[in-house]
Amino acid sequence: MATLNGGLSTNGLKAHHDHFTTRAIHVGSEPDPVTGAVVPSLGVATTFKQDGVNKHRGYEYARSANPTRTQLEALVTSLETSPYFASGEDSHVDVSGAASFVFGSGSAATAAMCVWAGLQANEGGGGGKDGVNGGGGHVLAVNDVYGGSARYLARTSKSTGLEVTFLDMEKAGEEGIRKALRPDTRLIWLEAPTNPQLLVPPLPTIAKIVDALPIETRPLVIVDTTFLSAFYFTPLIPSGPGVLPLGDVTLSSLTKYGSGHSDIIMGSLTVSQHTARTRPNVLKGLQFLQNSLGATASPRDCHLMIRSLKTLSVRMIRHGTNALRIAAWLRDQPEIEQVRYPGLTTDGAFHMVEALLSPNARRELEFFGWKFPFEPSTDTSNSIDSLAGIRTLGIPFGGMVSFKLKGASAAQIDTFVTSLRLITLAESLGGVESLIEVPAGMTHKELGEETRLALGITDNLVRFSVGIEDVEDLIQDLRIGFAAIRQ
Ligand SMILES: *Cc1c(COP(=O)(O)O)cnc(C)c1O
Repeated sequence: MATLNGGLSTNGLKAHHDHFTTRAIHVGSEPDPVTGAVVPSLGVATTFKQDGVNKHRGYEYARSANPTRTQLEALVTSLETSPYFASGEDSHVDVSGAASFVFGSGSAATAAMCVWAGLQANEGGGGGKDGVNGGGGHVLAVNDVYGGSARYLARTSKSTGLEVTFLDMEKAGEEGIRKALRPDTRLIWLEAPTNPQLLVPPLPTIAKIVDALPIETRPLVIVDTTFLSAFYFTPLIPSGPGVLPLGDVTLSSLTKYGSGHSDIIMGSLTVSQHTARTRPNVLKGLQFLQNSLGATASPRDCHLMIRSLKTLSVRMIRHGTNALRIAAWLRDQPEIEQVRYPGLTTDGAFHMVEALLSPNARRELEFFGWKFPFEPSTDTSNSIDSLAGIRTLGIPFGGMVSFKLKGASAAQIDTFVTSLRLITLAESLGGVESLIEVPAGMTHKELGEETRLALGITDNLVRFSVGIEDVEDLIQDLRIGFAAIRQ
């Protein structure tokens, strides 16, 4: 764990007073006080010399903490929790206390969170069934959840006695969600947007229900923000003074947009300042589990992740504008039956996007001419070929698009995805290169046909992780795919 004010030299850089893009480059990367090196040193030591029995300098053994991971955790905390306020307004903002825990994968972060639910209270855990002794307990999860999380929640967690209810929260509404909560509900598990349907669960409604419960025993709201990254979505940042954040903990598979180059597996949990202050047991419990489960990330990978995160902002803007252009183009093609991209004005979730958009993304988009409250630009061309044109189509909101090919059989879908030249058929997402996959036959195969169809995951649904290539080349590639099916 590294808290933001936790002993990290900032060389006069005020971690909370700079904008997101600046912090992405500087927090955790302060010039080395000894050599002046402008990038952080890679610390690979597994153990640290002590000056006397139990007299150490903050590091004993690299699993419990190591300097490179501490630097990365400080950076992740800054990106997930520090607000942007217009200049002059920021001097009173204090976000100290928030903390991040980095794990060897997003799945390890998921496992740690679920183990926390059933961990006994005196270790900082959720207390399980009776809230004290540990064991059991309940999780209320959104139904359209990432395949690996569904597997952990539904199958692996049985070994700890955790019980799980999957709920279509949008459909259930306030009353339905309230009814699904139990006295032993320790976690509410959300993803925004969900995978692969890109639906947005009603976070404000859930926050309202939870905020009315007694603070010590209420379930923690976990938001898996992997599909948007901290650039677009920061539910730990309150929307204004006196407002509570939408979530307690964000979970991110940094494997995806965090890495951005498809070369690191890693995950993180970040606890909001509000939760850290009102329920310090959560930090204690997660720190205990990060060390005791041992599912850590290597310092070498942490070092590479620090480098990757420096460009998160520039990559995410391009992912977003490319995805918005592609979604708008797909919508107009006769081969397409349904397109989902929450940022497209015609998408069912568009009404929620503006409220969820991070203050940082909003500011960056304003630079490119977007106006908030959202007003389509007055350009009437509706063209995807100019910035003014795409401003009429919606708001960039991540790089994930899903679509259904009208009447296509599984064999035709196979032809489509294998005839593409640039867009690679592969699982995962978030890299600079475009990837495409077919959930029914790949990432969501394990769900079984009945569950899949109930979630709308038909054989002709395709999930597209739009990369940052030139969008014209990507569209040309999709044209090649459509032509291949027609043959
Ligand atoms: C990939 C992913 C995970 C799991 O992360 P790994 O790093 O692959 O273990 C969790 N949630 C979502 C939404 C993901 O896309």
